[in-house]
Amino acid sequence: MKNISIWQDIELEASPSLDSDITVDVLIIGAGITGLSTAYQLKNTNYKICIVDKNVVGKSVTTKSTGKITFMQDTLTKIDSKNIDNYLKSQIEAYNIIENIIKENNIDCDYEKVDNYLFTNKDIKTLEKLEKTLNKQIKVEKKDNYLKSIGAVFNPAKYLLGLKKICLKNNIKIYENTTIIRLEKTDETLYAYTNKNKIKAKYIVLVPHYPVFLTPLFLPMKSYLEKSYLCAEKIEENKKMSGINIDKKVESFRYYNNYYIYLTESSKISDKLNSSECFNNLLKNTSKKVDYIWSNKDIMTIDNMPYIGFIKENILIATGYNTWGMTNGTIASKIICDLIQNKNNEYKDLFNPNRSIKITDYIKFPIYISGTLKAFASTKLNKNKSFYKNVKFEERDGISLGIYIDENGKQHIVYNKCPHMKCSLLFNEVEKLWECPCHGSKFDLDGKCIEGPSNFNITYKEDSNYDMNPVSWTK
Ligand SMILES: Cc1cc2nc3c(=O)[nH]c(=O)nc-3n(C[C@H](O)[C@H](O)[C@H](O)COP(=O)(O)OP(=O)(O)OC[C@H]3O[C@@H](n4cnc5c(N)ncnc54)[C@H](O)[C@@H]3O)c2cc1C
Repeated sequence: MKNISIWQDIELEASPSLDSDITVDVLIIGAGITGLSTAYQLKNTNYKICIVDKNVVGKSVTTKSTGKITFMQDTLTKIDSKNIDNYLKSQIEAYNIIENIIKENNIDCDYEKVDNYLFTNKDIKTLEKLEKTLNKQIKVEKKDNYLKSIGAVFNPAKYLLGLKKICLKNNIKIYENTTIIRLEKTDETLYAYTNKNKIKAKYIVLVPHYPVFLTPLFLPMKSYLEKSYLCAEKIEENKKMSGINIDKKVESFRYYNNYYIYLTESSKISDKLNSSECFNNLLKNTSKKVDYIWSNKDIMTIDNMPYIGFIKENILIATGYNTWGMTNGTIASKIICDLIQNKNNEYKDLFNPNRSIKITDYIKFPIYISGTLKAFASTKLNKNKSFYKNVKFEERDGISLGIYIDENGKQHIVYNKCPHMKCSLLFNEVEKLWECPCHGSKFDLDGKCIEGPSNFNITYKEDSNYDMNPVSWTK
């Protein structure tokens, strides 16, 4: 069994990192589906564009998803009735945009149309309501406990690599293994800093999944992170269909060549802190034939709709896709492209990051914060009560360390504190990495940060002063 995403099981070639100061019109931070799609949308403008990514293209949240492109989303049951028609319209538009991009550019990403199901095990009434909503804009068929319509699936890593190729062909610079650690705004100009260089830009598109740099968005109070495990197992027959249910316990599936891919164990990231219990449950619920198992996380928002648009003068964000990033990341790219060019976009108010939130949604604020606080406190209290077999915790000179002992007895030592908000880290036994239960940053065995919101590593160096960089907020 491999502990990586099925889409990430490929050789990736990185473009060079940034090694000098540069000036551009549009700087895009993050080369996931949102960042690369935005560059694609802007490619025919006169703007000088560059994208930076702290990792390599193909290693982001996008390439840990299920790779379904659909407007038949469980989220539709949670969106306010006054927004639902417009939201659905945006998702249908995004679905069509992706198909056109793939066809126009011959992107080889195993794209195929499949029957797409939205089903329930108990809530037929909600399903009937959804049928009416969907049928206003698209043809759906209802039978027993499901709705059926058209949908599509692809290999998200191949899609991103296809977009990357098109961007490079259009003289859009892509700097990989380049982490932005600080943003600064002075009068008319924006600067983004790596640890060696700076980028001067007219516009910054902030799409690193979790926009850690921005305090005014108050994201931790308006969102939480949901984590799920995904499995891929070999099957005899590809049934050319995909689906998701609308019930509380999420069931989601699709086929890919001779693999069946399905979701298991979804929860708030701050909920399941006993990692070994979680691991054992996972093994119980997972078939023995599983070839790949990995986890993914996404940002869930207070009103179940993304935040897309200007957050400050000339700084745009797109985040909070509520597990529907292929369509939302794509529609975000269109909105951002229009806003930068001062064009109207019909969804700009719907997804405005500064939109007012309904009073009833504010009730969720304390719940969101208490989840993170509970995780924070609990890791501080519990970390020495070892849940694990091959992991131990130690204090050296007043500094907490986490130590993983591999099959050869080698000790891998890291600082056990997330550079983002100083939460203590837990060990993820499924993927063999360190993970923050508050906001989901992930670090490999030797402390390299492989997923944000942290922008810093936790690599332990004996004899070096402990200097954990603080989070850098936008000035
Ligand atoms: C279990 C699960 C299954 C899912 N399945 C689906 C699905 O089938 N269909 C669907 O539509 N959606 C799905 N999603 C949602 C989808 O995966 C995400 O919403 C989407 O991929 C987010 O894309 P993004 O561009 O915002 O982020 P990412 O793809 O994570 O891209 C952000 C990039 O920014 C880079 N970055 C971060 N910080 C910095 C920095 N400081 N400097 C430079 N670069 C930085 C990262 O390295 C990364 O490459 C799923 C989510 C989950 C949790």
